[in-house]
Amino acid sequence: MSLYDKIKNVLFEYLPKDVNIKIEFEGPYLSLYTDNISLITGETGIAPKLAKALRKKILIRPLDEIRVEKEKAKEIIKSLVPKDALLDENLIYFDDIRGEVHLYALRPSLIRGRGDVNIWEIVNKTGWKVILHRKPPIESDIMKTVDSYTFSKLSEQYKEIINIGMRINREPILENVGNIRIIHLGGANEVGRSCFLISTDTSNILLDAGLKPGAKTINEEFPAFYLIDKLIEKLDAIVISHAHFDHCSALPYLFKYGYRGPVYMTEPTKYLMTLIISDYLNITQKEGKPAPYSYADLTNALIHTFTLDYGEVVDIAPNVKLTLYNAGHILGSSIVHLHFGEGYHNLVYTGDFKYAKTRLLDQAFNQFKRNETIIMEGTYGGPEDIMPNRIEATNQLIEIIKNTIENGGKVLMPMLAVGRAQEILLTIFEGMENNLLPKVPVLVEGMIHETTAIHIAFLEELSYEVKEKVFREGVNPFTSEYFNLIKDVADRKEVVEAGPCIIVATSGMLTGGPAVEYFKLLAGDEKNAIIFTSFQVENTLGRRIKDGAKEVYLPGEKNEIIHVKLKVYSAEGFSGHSDRQQLLNYLKNLPTKPKNVILCHGEPSKLHNLSQAIRKDFHISTYVPEVGETIRVK
Ligand SMILES: [Zn+2]
Repeated sequence: MSLYDKIKNVLFEYLPKDVNIKIEFEGPYLSLYTDNISLITGETGIAPKLAKALRKKILIRPLDEIRVEKEKAKEIIKSLVPKDALLDENLIYFDDIRGEVHLYALRPSLIRGRGDVNIWEIVNKTGWKVILHRKPPIESDIMKTVDSYTFSKLSEQYKEIINIGMRINREPILENVGNIRIIHLGGANEVGRSCFLISTDTSNILLDAGLKPGAKTINEEFPAFYLIDKLIEKLDAIVISHAHFDHCSALPYLFKYGYRGPVYMTEPTKYLMTLIISDYLNITQKEGKPAPYSYADLTNALIHTFTLDYGEVVDIAPNVKLTLYNAGHILGSSIVHLHFGEGYHNLVYTGDFKYAKTRLLDQAFNQFKRNETIIMEGTYGGPEDIMPNRIEATNQLIEIIKNTIENGGKVLMPMLAVGRAQEILLTIFEGMENNLLPKVPVLVEGMIHETTAIHIAFLEELSYEVKEKVFREGVNPFTSEYFNLIKDVADRKEVVEAGPCIIVATSGMLTGGPAVEYFKLLAGDEKNAIIFTSFQVENTLGRRIKDGAKEVYLPGEKNEIIHVKLKVYSAEGFSGHSDRQQLLNYLKNLPTKPKNVILCHGEPSKLHNLSQAIRKDFHISTYVPEVGETIRVK
């Protein structure tokens, strides 16, 4: 029986006889359009039953004929939404194709009401389904740009989604997926250009598509796509684990060469990725270098992107199910779980992950029911990679800042914009709240403005403690009066001359951005301090300063020598990666022991050493593959 007939039978069994239903395969989802409002509001409780019977995620939406005219719907919405919710009345988007209305409010929980009663009332009175978004108190330009772009392309996007849906739900040529092979296209025995092809006899899935920063040749910069004959045509899906450059920046390149299939990631990843890739394109343009793809290739990727919640199960190819779980690494980062056949094989790809709590995020998930094969990162997998714990790290950082300020100096913290910046802001906030730090001005500048706005838009994804603070105590640390978040300062000299302060600015390795400008102004005074909180790559200005250089040039300028007199510190322990012990604990605490562990994303010596430790401790087969190597796991 075809899938379509099966669906019809199930619907016939569960639905009342007189309802009108239109069935659509929208990418990985099955959408049912109906004229029966009680099905949409969930009063009948039918959607979960259908989902269970069909083993598919079901979306129930209103048919065109029951939707109230848009202007009228807008008036009804405005009258029903409580004033305290602070709805942005200029940002009400109607999706004519799906019958959905998108609302943005500063306090969306008030629109929801208890048990979604308010939402359902809007649906009842307007016939439009409500999709609710949190509008951050600091607005993100990139979120606005991405949203208005996707809303302008709805009908174009819908055609693509239907094509993707047909392909996902095609009749399988075999009953099962056959052999499962992992082909390592990048990120194997190296850090950078992460990319793994999971190839079965019936489908092909790409996990991550990154470039390698600082690569010397194009061959080293790109994943080894050339190894796979007709890769673009073969691919069923691309999954992006998180929005770091080395995991997502080759995605537009695949669209440039004709890929038009689905891309899966979490919603925060979509925005952060757009930010990171746009920034990369801007810098390449400024430096007059040729870009490997255009902005149009990026927007094309966005149109084909499906965002998933953690724990949501979707079909991405015949007999292949995908689920994303929290990786604790950066906002939106995920551990990828692929389920093949009915319990035939399970593969976990950790991406980058942190198996410990941070201030910002909860620890990575590992309670899988089954996980025969694991591809695990090993960035800090060496025996020497033991990081100080969070309390030690915090105490050390607070001590340095406090001493510098008390001696009349200023503190400069060059910062990675995604994740690390927010972790450090939370640390400073806590220090000031508990009177461990003097309450001097904290100046936050550069891309951190954007990334912090995106963090605020996704508060629900952050750690339990941050949520408690915001939702129970009503205190949002990121919008605290201690911080002055600015996009760009006209006169940094004025800032620096004003008295003791803490400056948190991009870039994290002093390769450019406001941090370099501040360094120039602060370097000559021995009372000042610079504190590094992230790894400094070789040949960067940050690395030279960290290594103790007393005379340096600024990036791109060879005329002026800067004498380094300020104090140089490095505060370890704020990393978003797991250290050696956390990597081993992650495996140890899995509910079932894996059969194969494949180690990637690390320097060869660290990965090999970690591999030996795993074999010895757990008696599991381990692999440290090279780029280009194929491992058959089933
Ligand atoms: Zn990462």
